[in-house]
Amino acid sequence: MGLFFVVTSATTPGARRFTCRRCDHAQDAEVQGIGASLMSDPDAAQRRARIAARLDLDHAIALARCPACKRRNPGAWFRFWRGYIMYVSPWFVVGVALALYPMWPDDVALVRCLLPVLCAGTGALTVVPVMVRHRWANLDRRVRWVDEESSSGASQRLARWVAFHRR
Ligand SMILES: [Zn+2]
Repeated sequence: MGLFFVVTSATTPGARRFTCRRCDHAQDAEVQGIGASLMSDPDAAQRRARIAARLDLDHAIALARCPACKRRNPGAWFRFWRGYIMYVSPWFVVGVALALYPMWPDDVALVRCLLPVLCAGTGALTVVPVMVRHRWANLDRRVRWVDEESSSGASQRLARWVAFHRR
């Protein structure tokens, strides 16, 4: 109990409306939300992953590239990186804690100064590039634009699609 962890991921489809803050273009989209969780209880992990996937729908549409002007909304880059900054900062805190630990003799002052950076860097270098590469590569594939001209038919199709995938 508590020793075994299950990594679970879930995907959730949803309808979101994109509004471009650069060119005022607005369009409906079918979005794929991706969520993952790491827990010892498989059922709880699956539930948590599904919740994360639903939250991810908003992230995905916020990061979408505008179909009209081909640019992302202001702040999209920051929103994308924020999660990774939050992931790296605990490592940084660990490094600071180690650096302040009184066990260290004074002649390793340079090591002490570098420890926070080393810890944060190690954490960042091991996991973040893989995560970023995976998510960035899939970012634009996760948003499917619904054509405006056939929007009534498309929204019915979308409603059916969402109803089919949601349980
Ligand atoms: Zn635009």
